[in-house]
Amino acid sequence: METLDDRLIATHLGDDYDRFMGAVVPPVFMNSLHVFPTMEQYLQCDPKKDFIYGRIANPTVRLVEQKIAALERGKTAALFASGMAAATTAIAAVCKAGAHIICLRNCYGPVIRFLDEYCVGSMGMSVDYVPANAEDIIGAIQPETRLMVLESPTSLVFEVIDLRKIAKAAREKGIITYVDNTYCTPLFQKPLDMGIDIVMHTLSKYLGGHSDIIGGVLVCNDDALSERLLNMRILFGGIIGPQEAWLVMRGIRTLDVRLAHHQETALAVAKFLESHPKVLRVNYPALPVSPHYTLATEQQSGCTGLLSFELEGDKEDALRFCNRLQLFKIGVSWGGFESLVVLPMYKHAPEDAAYYGANDKLVRIHCGLEGADNLIEDLRQALL
Ligand SMILES: *Cc1c(COP(=O)(O)O)cnc(C)c1O
Repeated sequence: METLDDRLIATHLGDDYDRFMGAVVPPVFMNSLHVFPTMEQYLQCDPKKDFIYGRIANPTVRLVEQKIAALERGKTAALFASGMAAATTAIAAVCKAGAHIICLRNCYGPVIRFLDEYCVGSMGMSVDYVPANAEDIIGAIQPETRLMVLESPTSLVFEVIDLRKIAKAAREKGIITYVDNTYCTPLFQKPLDMGIDIVMHTLSKYLGGHSDIIGGVLVCNDDALSERLLNMRILFGGIIGPQEAWLVMRGIRTLDVRLAHHQETALAVAKFLESHPKVLRVNYPALPVSPHYTLATEQQSGCTGLLSFELEGDKEDALRFCNRLQLFKIGVSWGGFESLVVLPMYKHAPEDAAYYGANDKLVRIHCGLEGADNLIEDLRQALL
């Protein structure tokens, strides 16, 4: 199939005016089941194509799955009620008791807790947590390794890992690779094109984009793998609701313009911070001084609005700085219209923070859509 331009996929893929009475926006299918004209038709229906019951599939959900699959250059996508539902379903679908898993140290925290508490604690799997670079990741491969749980860039200090190199080494050994692509979104990075097997996103960040939904998605290119993932979604029951799926579709229509603005703003903010005498270090892969700049430029087509930095002084100074901010609101998450700030390592011991390549005074900000000049002014007054 010919690949459509991402902007056309985001705006128009799935439009079907004839089917939806000329409505410019497809409706929300707010139904839990579908009925059949005859019992024979019900008995012959194909659960993979036909709509039967809402835990298995829903027309609104499927439309969004088609859009995200096309954006990621994948064959199939499956939507979930949260990013964590997607992540845990993928791990459960791929790994059996006794499997060995390689996971980044800096991977999203709750995924690590799931690996520790469920995979290791209940299922007898083993996990090696490795620093974010291809050498350490590939070096951790064992004969029982079944899965690599990866993220690039990571969402604390924004390390970028060489996805092509890792995917190639994993393929040679029959190991499944999984990448959390939430930071870049499908517009700025296409891991399946680089040989990765499963791409995961939380829809709660940029794809939703308006801080009004929780959702997740898995995308892949392999029919057998795709079938296992979908089957596990059906059995665990983690499908997203139709209303949330519809909001994701709305978010995706403006993803391109939003990301351009997030990127432009974050780069201006990163440059301002980098040049400020009270800022010691800025972690943002689009800054030419970043150690990840070259690789990021090769495998991503952009960077988004999330970055972190370290201030002069101790973690109490960082805390006072956060409290002086006006436009940046104190809160977790990111990817919405609003600017946010957190101290992700404040509660960690310094040696614990060092394990993550960070330190306890690290400030993480999300640059929203309020305008670079306004955000820089806010940071400037809080840095005084
Ligand atoms: C928020 C987040 C998740 C989890 O998504 P939920 O929708 O909250 O379950 C996973 N990965 C990354 C990188 C995230 O930022």
